[in-house]
Amino acid sequence: MSKKELIEDSQEVREAMAELKAKAESEAAEETADTTSTEEDSYNDYAEDESSYAEDYTEESQTEESAPSEIEEEETSAEKSDAGAIARTREETRRLRKAQFSENRQAASRDKEEGVREKRPARRRAKSKKTADSIISLENVSMEYVKGRPALKNVNIEIKKGEFVFIVGGSGSGKSTLIKLLLRELVPTTGSINVNGYTLEKLKHRKIPMFRRNIGVVFQDFRLLKDKNVYENVAFAQRIVQTPAREIKKNVPEMLSLVGLAKKYKATPNHLSGGEQQRVALARAIVNKPPILLADEPTGNLDPSMTVEIMDLLEKINQNGTTVIVVTHDDKIVNQMHKRVITIKKGIVLSDEEEGSYTDED
Ligand code: ADP
Ligand code: MG
Repeated sequence: MSKKELIEDSQEVREAMAELKAKAESEAAEETADTTSTEEDSYNDYAEDESSYAEDYTEESQTEESAPSEIEEEETSAEKSDAGAIARTREETRRLRKAQFSENRQAASRDKEEGVREKRPARRRAKSKKTADSIISLENVSMEYVKGRPALKNVNIEIKKGEFVFIVGGSGSGKSTLIKLLLRELVPTTGSINVNGYTLEKLKHRKIPMFRRNIGVVFQDFRLLKDKNVYENVAFAQRIVQTPAREIKKNVPEMLSLVGLAKKYKATPNHLSGGEQQRVALARAIVNKPPILLADEPTGNLDPSMTVEIMDLLEKINQNGTTVIVVTHDDKIVNQMHKRVITIKKGIVLSDEEEGSYTDED
């Protein structure tokens, strides 16, 4: 190679490098902008979302780890195949390698980003399909435990973030079936269910525990741990999700005062009234701050005065921002509260009314 050729060659390399550098800088700026918005999104989500993102990030960092070796290989082969490299000065070869490395890295990071987009679309798309403030939606949902005998038939319901909704209907009408579908204890025979961005019929088994952290739940029979005291019953829910001890110590007393049981924190369930037990169950259901609270006949075992107490508490929880869904066949309380009422009869949604009322026919 002549001296002239060498000069021209190195000139070309410099130009190519300048171009690559400019490209790298502008892409790095874009990347930073993207990362910021993704982080903001996840911070705005709930803790369980963060953990699921954390999972994704782990997968991503594995991809990242494998990237350098691939780059090195490409580098070496590029070096070998480039006959002109011999003629170049050492300095230029080094710079060229650096430029190639930087481009490969960007390509790897672009792939990684696209990978991220491909990995997450199920949730993102599912979310965007609904109206922005929808938190629960059932589309043409039918559930048959026994073929040909639907417990729910072609149910369509949409619940918005922050709503308080009663689900009413006589015994055997399908209310608990609906709750079990929302908890992903059952999968509908047909139709689609979306809860806080999760499309339940598509949800992988290993994701179910993570999904359930979106929902606090209480039942007619309280389901407290009998041998544990009030404090421990509530703290237990936090330990399951690995809340740090310091936070548990702060959160549990907060929840117990919210439900008016701060003074009884040492009592075991058998020393509490039904209403008090249900209040412990409520504290436990919301201590991890789920966006949704489901209550299946929460006052079914309580006398009228305790029923009012629990309903007031559910309303308070709702006012703090939680979407609350209450299954009941207590017509008196439903008619007092002037909330949205969805009436189910023999598996069919009979009516769905804002500030509705209910006449218990059973
Ligand atoms: P509700 O809570 O309104 O009383 P359910 O959802 O429990 O009603 O029940 C709806 C219908 O589904 C009823 O006819 C009931 O017998 C039936 N059903 C509920 N659970 C099962 C099950 N595990 N296997 C078969 N049938 C069931
Ligand atoms: Mg039931």
